[in-house]
Amino acid sequence: MSKHDATAPRLDKRTEAVHGGTRRSKYGEVSEALFLTQGFVYDTAEAAEARFIGAGPDEFIYARYGNPTVAMFEDRIARLEGAGDAFATASGMAAVNGALVSMLRAGDHVVSARALFGSCLYILEEVLTRYGVEVTFVDGADLGQWREAIRPDTKAVFFESMSNPVLELVDIEAVARLAHAQGALVVVDNVFSTPVWSRAIEQGADLVVYSATKHIDGQGRCLGGVILGTRDHIRGVVEPYMKHTGGSISPFNAWVMLKGLETLDLRVRAQTTCAKAIAEALEGHSALARVIHPGLPSHPQHDLAMRQLGAGGTMLALDLKGGKEAAFAFLNSLQIAVISNNLGDAKTIVTHPATTTHQRLEPEVRAALGIGDGVVRISAGLEAPDDLIADFLQALEPL
Ligand SMILES: *Cc1c(COP(=O)(O)O)cnc(C)c1O
Repeated sequence: MSKHDATAPRLDKRTEAVHGGTRRSKYGEVSEALFLTQGFVYDTAEAAEARFIGAGPDEFIYARYGNPTVAMFEDRIARLEGAGDAFATASGMAAVNGALVSMLRAGDHVVSARALFGSCLYILEEVLTRYGVEVTFVDGADLGQWREAIRPDTKAVFFESMSNPVLELVDIEAVARLAHAQGALVVVDNVFSTPVWSRAIEQGADLVVYSATKHIDGQGRCLGGVILGTRDHIRGVVEPYMKHTGGSISPFNAWVMLKGLETLDLRVRAQTTCAKAIAEALEGHSALARVIHPGLPSHPQHDLAMRQLGAGGTMLALDLKGGKEAAFAFLNSLQIAVISNNLGDAKTIVTHPATTTHQRLEPEVRAALGIGDGVVRISAGLEAPDDLIADFLQALEPL
């Protein structure tokens, strides 16, 4: 098998997304091979012994430890994200759990933004604290709260760079400065920012986590995730934890994600254009209290979004004046967009967070996070924006 050259100079993200990490077998296949194998054959007993003493970068032992298809996905996304290395995981949550648990121990302190994906909140609030890690929650957009909460014994800060569902941004550079001054690592759940717009590593993130289930697959097929960071941290801290606790990705899913990276840039750019077009068309509609999209000048952090990402991303949210009743009527009238809780898909997806993804939260907590009963989250897909806009307008018409 021709080896991937980790020392080759990095090219533009779009080039890396198509070629980065490729390993060709002796057959010279154009499309990357799916090595659907758990194990690997050694020529001799001595060779097996040698590999267990120390496997080289392109030597594999068992698929939970690594696999050629998985390695192609890891190297490709590390190269396009600008990270030293990556470890691919079974899901986005395996990545969040692995990034945090692999580096923390009892007595450590973590500061986290409060506005989190439900399962991320579970890890911070229920899992880490059960093992003696102290967690302080802050309002992610308020730098004063980060400054006050980060202490000399803080080992990590954690946040979603753009929150779900109300699209609030955290200033990565500013929070990283505060964290690094106290020796804490910055762990960013970067799903809503996407690898296309992200410059999180350059902006100070030490570990970047993606649910590959979202834009990287982009067609709603497989679960997957990835943890990105320095080579030393990924191979020295993350890999031992992940490979021994079973959170590795299946080679099949890694292959879907690997091929997904090839079209990621085109898809995310089209979806970003689509999200902005929908937001602009609906802003000011009489049935809506608010249209939330970081690409709109009316977004309170529009300047930060432009500085940090250079675009508003693929998501938007509407706040319907008529509350839950209007939101449900709106969802039920849509002809094109589908009701589901995934995002980043080729199909435009709408969801009512208060009764689905954020149902578990107390109403006061939801209100504090800005997730009112009228809020509808939209993940813009790859359909013609004009068709979607017409569909959204007809569904708002009776409200
Ligand atoms: C979906 C999502 C996750 C979890 O990813 P899975 O692949 O579903 O495990 C974590 N964080 C954010 C922000 C997400 O959107």
